[in-house]
Amino acid sequence: MSDTVFPAGTLMKGKRGLVMGVANKNSIAWGIAQQLSAQGAELAFSYQGGELEKRVRPLVESLGGDPFMVTADVTDDASMDACFEAIKDKWGGLDFLVHAIAFAGKDELKGSFTHNTTREGFKRAMDISAFSFVDAAKRASALMPSKEDGGGAMVSMTYLGAERVVPNYNVMGVAKAALEASTRYIARDLGPAGIRVNAISAGPMRTLAMAGIAGGKTLMKTGKDWSMLKEDTTMEGVAGAALYLLSDLGKSCTGEVLHVDAGFHAVGVPDIDEL
Ligand code: NAP
Repeated sequence: MSDTVFPAGTLMKGKRGLVMGVANKNSIAWGIAQQLSAQGAELAFSYQGGELEKRVRPLVESLGGDPFMVTADVTDDASMDACFEAIKDKWGGLDFLVHAIAFAGKDELKGSFTHNTTREGFKRAMDISAFSFVDAAKRASALMPSKEDGGGAMVSMTYLGAERVVPNYNVMGVAKAALEASTRYIARDLGPAGIRVNAISAGPMRTLAMAGIAGGKTLMKTGKDWSMLKEDTTMEGVAGAALYLLSDLGKSCTGEVLHVDAGFHAVGVPDIDEL
């Protein structure tokens, strides 16, 4: 278990969840999975398929227990059908969902948003990064217990580029805005069924997805230098927020976008002596 995990506990004992979006050991989904596992959650992992299994399987096996891995390409209805069918067959239900999936083409993650965004690229970013949450939420909610039996919880991953203009984030910022709005709409729909739906807006973190954004290093440095805490966003903080939102600690919290970015989102002007 990595040192980004809080001491073991029982906050998620008896809960089963699907984690979507582990690509490697640096993935945010993996940080969250380890935290949930340390609190007793039983986890299923979906990955896009192909070569990825080689990277994901050893991680999943390191958690011990009975590794449960399913393929799910979120752009493919048949693949999503098979993923949720496998969960239904094995568990008969589901208590929570972690959605940590996004994609936009490299050419669209640099330069001018206005000039570089193609119709195809826009649709692809929206499909993989925003609609996939709507689709997964629909499927997951169908497997969740009734409100009387505890309901369920879901979390998606977003970034400040949804709310503010961040150079090069471009079409992904627009997709994240759609993801955040979707999170609120889904939260309203599923609220009466006792299912809470929230998003975590994480500061820049060193992952594969971050490596695809032009100037990612500068985003990381600015994210730290201009933050209130003067530090990078930590996996421990993001995974802790997920634990809060997915466990009973987060009761009464839904439709929320929780910023976990060392306070960067609330800073209007960087420190005066840096100007
Ligand atoms: P990551 O490790 O690269 O994870 C992204 C995941 O999305 C990968 O597992 C990737 O699988 C998956 N994915 C892409 N297209 C898919 C598809 N069609 N079907 C199924 N899965 C697909 O990067 P990450 O930074 O942890 O990203 C996780 C989430 O956090 C994303 O929503 C991201 O936007 C968000 N986030 C990241 C940061 C940051 O600074 N890193 C900050 C705020 C929010 P493949 O590898 O197979 O493509």
